[in-house]
Amino acid sequence: MDWYFKCPLCKKDRSSDWDNAGKTVECAECKKTRKIPTPADQHDAYVDQHDWPDDMEKEVFRVKGRVCVIDACDSKEMTLDHIKAWNNKGRTSVSNLQPMCKSHNSSKSDTDFSTWLKESKLKLRQ
Ligand SMILES: [Zn+2]
Ligand SMILES: [Zn+2]
Repeated sequence: MDWYFKCPLCKKDRSSDWDNAGKTVECAECKKTRKIPTPADQHDAYVDQHDWPDDMEKEVFRVKGRVCVIDACDSKEMTLDHIKAWNNKGRTSVSNLQPMCKSHNSSKSDTDFSTWLKESKLKLRQ
């Protein structure tokens, strides 16, 4: 799994193996030693696959809460949802993931969140 992020120093788009997130290495672009950001450092950074790593899930729950985004839903069986669908070029990043219960997530399938919300007449939690 590869990890796509911006160098914290030169701001250029960089990538590395996901396992190196959080490690301190030299940037091939600016030649300076810097930490490869973690999902908590850069919410727009993304991995190149549909399934997210545990560290990314933790950060989504920390920032957005561990509760389904659908109004009045009290399910405890949580997963994450791609707000912009993965099959519609939605990225697997903290920014594009949100907490959703498994039942709402399977009803949503791979539709974009905004489209599904309208079609299913559900409301966002306030
Ligand atoms: Zn750099
Ligand atoms: Zn739900």
